[in-house]
Amino acid sequence: MNAGFPAPDHDHARCVADTLARAEETCDGRGRRLTPLRRRVLETLALSHRPVGAYDIVERLTKTGEPVPAMSVYRALDFLVAEGLAHRIESRNAFLACNHGHDSGEVVVFLLCERCGTVAEVTRSAVGRELVRTARVVGFEVRVPVLEIAGLCEVCRETEARR
Ligand SMILES: [Zn+2]
Ligand SMILES: [Zn+2]
Repeated sequence: MNAGFPAPDHDHARCVADTLARAEETCDGRGRRLTPLRRRVLETLALSHRPVGAYDIVERLTKTGEPVPAMSVYRALDFLVAEGLAHRIESRNAFLACNHGHDSGEVVVFLLCERCGTVAEVTRSAVGRELVRTARVVGFEVRVPVLEIAGLCEVCRETEARR
């Protein structure tokens, strides 16, 4: 089992459809609206397992339809992140679609491949819980419980080994 990294031959169309269906469901359940723009922004993110920068999203949306003002894209991203439908990857200054829910306060660990740019999410993390506990001991309140770890994914490691 490769911990959270998408298999190179996985059914990605299904992956995108699942992410969008889950987002619709989440928004319905909370009485929030997944407007057409929010949906398009999420779809643009979901098309890739690599984080996408806000400006790239504006460009891609403009290429595939009506020009979209950057401000509207930023607002859509704020919404998606606030609802837990997307994550902000700080070290890349970019965004990633999320297709599973999170408990509040849960520490999210991202494994970032330095070669192909793919990001995997590891949610069940004892390390995360330990960190929150350690922070509490020194009187620190965790606000953004996110860890980003850089390295090489399994696919890239195998490619490298074959050289
Ligand atoms: Zn996929
Ligand atoms: Zn990789």
